[in-house]
Amino acid sequence: MSELYELGIKEAKALLDKREASSEELVRALIARKNAADGEIGAYLTFDEEGAINAALEADTILAQEGRTAEQTLLGVPFGIKDLINVAGQPCTCSSKILEGYVSPYDATVVKNLKAAGAVCAGRLNMDQFAMGSSTETSAFKTTHNPYDLSRVPGGSSGGSAAAVGGNLAIATLGTDTGGSIRQPASFCNCVGVKPSYGRVSRFGVTAFASSLDQVGPMTKSVEDAALLLQVLAGHDEMDGTTPKIAVPDYSKAIEGASLKGVRLGLPKEYFVDGLDGEVKRITEAAIKTCTDAGAEIVEVSLPHTEYAMAVYYIVAPAEASANLARFDGVRYGHRSTRSDSVFNLYTRSRAEGFGPEVKRRIIMGTYVLSSGYYDAYYGRALKVRTLIKRDFDNAFGKVDALITPVAPTPAFKLGEVQDPVTMYLNDLFTIPASLAGVCAASIPAGFAGGKLPVGVQFIAPGFAEDTLLKVSKAYEDARGVL
Ligand code: GLN
Repeated sequence: MSELYELGIKEAKALLDKREASSEELVRALIARKNAADGEIGAYLTFDEEGAINAALEADTILAQEGRTAEQTLLGVPFGIKDLINVAGQPCTCSSKILEGYVSPYDATVVKNLKAAGAVCAGRLNMDQFAMGSSTETSAFKTTHNPYDLSRVPGGSSGGSAAAVGGNLAIATLGTDTGGSIRQPASFCNCVGVKPSYGRVSRFGVTAFASSLDQVGPMTKSVEDAALLLQVLAGHDEMDGTTPKIAVPDYSKAIEGASLKGVRLGLPKEYFVDGLDGEVKRITEAAIKTCTDAGAEIVEVSLPHTEYAMAVYYIVAPAEASANLARFDGVRYGHRSTRSDSVFNLYTRSRAEGFGPEVKRRIIMGTYVLSSGYYDAYYGRALKVRTLIKRDFDNAFGKVDALITPVAPTPAFKLGEVQDPVTMYLNDLFTIPASLAGVCAASIPAGFAGGKLPVGVQFIAPGFAEDTLLKVSKAYEDARGVL
């Protein structure tokens, strides 16, 4: 039998329901595993052991007395949370010094939903500072190592969330994705990562990076687990005006008996570019063959504005970040400089001391593209091109059910290897377009580069078609078999 810490959500639930394990045992097994292995991996920033055990004991009492209610689909199952999602009473630093010591006064809606489903929120996961990065190296607090090769990065910005799942330090975790931050680390750490459509999941209580792009999503050990978790996260929230009142399908039902027979999968020709790592290419091609063998029809499609996606993202995301991060001023939250002799200096010194270099770079870029005289030339133009990118996807989805593409151009790279910011930005070449279009996308484990480094394959489906996305992903996962 597997160790308790190796379980996914579905297996953990089954053991809890059969009383073969208690929630307390699950939580204690994860704590022991964390204490044994996280010194090397470095996925967690903090872990409220006592709080987690108490929540587990409460779940065990319910399980022993009346059993789970229909709503309590995650009763007693512990989850790790990316450190920009607020959990009442726990730290929320966004891996930045500017929020060091900050304790959340309230639960984010996704956390409220998790708790209502009976989940135990156990542990805060490292990330790139304010979710800006692709390697988790911009964290102000620690380095997270890839569990498959400790000399390499776990990806980012949800690197802690991915390393925890891939390294069996968590049953499942929450990440966030603005331009690829769930999918790229999922690919690097061998887990399933789903970026829901824009508006599918509430962001209330999730520290904003780029508000027209940010989404919270599941990082799990299987597609079935992602379906279970997304079910709890998804839906309208009156605290987030971007979440429409669109019914949430039953995702677990949607993936029952999932098949690729007759499914039309689009292959966007712009995604198979020079510079794609040979092993990534080989694994992606093998995934495409697996899908064809399982009955999918492969259709070449074109997303002609793909080449502009990167430029558009690096205008839109920093522009929004520069506005969102204005709230960290040394007065309302977190770090306050002690060297100030005026109100102006209080602001500037607190920000200068609190923010890391990548965050400052984004704020400067964002402020520049929004400044008068440049606003129309950069920001206004980027919004127009974004519309064209979105239309590319609309056209493609007129012909196919979903798209299949690589997730990232390479497998996990070495810690410290990428120093140039623009080279780092290129990690998200294949994930950014779906974010700009607001559609949903997932990274599903597909193979190992050189037999060692995990590589995922990306499926992309239309907005609010998470049921299709999960169905295709599950059918591929089944057809692929155990890796
Ligand atoms: N790596 C991208 C960036 O640095 C995407 C980050 C994200 O999705 N949060 O902006």
